[in-house]
Amino acid sequence: MNKPYLFFGDHLRKKYGRRVLKLPVNANLSCPNRDGTLSSKGCIFCSDDGSASPTTSGINDISEQMKYAKENFKRSSRETDYIAYFQAYTNTNASIEDLKKLYDSAIGQDHIMGLMIGTRPDCLPDNILDLIASYKRDNFELWLEIGMQTIHEKSLEFLNRHHNHQSTRYAVERAAKKGIPICLHIILGIPGESWEDMMDTAQEAASMPIRGVKFHHLHVIKGTKLEYLYNKGSIKLLSLKEYTSILCDFIERLRPDIIIHRLTGDREESTLIAPLWGLHKGTVLKSIDDEFERRGTYQGFLYTEEDF
Ligand code: SF4
Repeated sequence: MNKPYLFFGDHLRKKYGRRVLKLPVNANLSCPNRDGTLSSKGCIFCSDDGSASPTTSGINDISEQMKYAKENFKRSSRETDYIAYFQAYTNTNASIEDLKKLYDSAIGQDHIMGLMIGTRPDCLPDNILDLIASYKRDNFELWLEIGMQTIHEKSLEFLNRHHNHQSTRYAVERAAKKGIPICLHIILGIPGESWEDMMDTAQEAASMPIRGVKFHHLHVIKGTKLEYLYNKGSIKLLSLKEYTSILCDFIERLRPDIIIHRLTGDREESTLIAPLWGLHKGTVLKSIDDEFERRGTYQGFLYTEEDF
């Protein structure tokens, strides 16, 4: 059944005709927002492991991490290829020589047909963008994931991001000029943001030269500053109904060609404090599909180029 939005899994299936999965990599590169360069506290929602996948836990060598993840993900004997996904921390936070070695080693593993690099907008100097652009080739899935989260300065400050929206725009424009496909991370439900604020972020995202977005609902992870605020009762989180409605509103305003990599935040039960509806991914995805069906709308339904 065709989805009312352009979903990454469908894009991969259509383009490559076979199953493609992401293999999380934790290169332990830390982050300027954790190592004291900008701050030593990190973003208020970020866990100590820098949002690393549990499949990388306790394994230092990235080829071993990928091997373990492959075994872990093997659901059938169907032919599968993989994207090396540098997910944890800030994956451009090293010298260009070290980064090249890391990226080369990851894509040199068996059945790797893509490279995905997650980072902050203020950690993308030109030489690193050139390095990333050098991996562009046919039939290879290259993505640069940039944590924008929101366009609102008050929210970036609340999240302790230590960058402003201007730096996101600057990074996106420079990366796009080099032909690098960009996926923006966006958080919905940041305390203090109104519906209009989130729709402003949607309009801005739709106007940027990006190829993908990844949505997260704001969720509380054990051991974070957000947990402290949540326990104090100073923040309110979105219900599933609210998230579904806001997300559909957002997607209706996105350009139809933007690929949606993820529709909801993902976290294992042992570290998630709230909201607990986030544990039931199937229910969340069904709720989004049902809402689009109820509305009779789809991605780009409210997008009009002249507005931007
Ligand atoms: S920039 Fe990324 S890795 Fe660094 S603290 Fe924030 S979320 Fe965590």
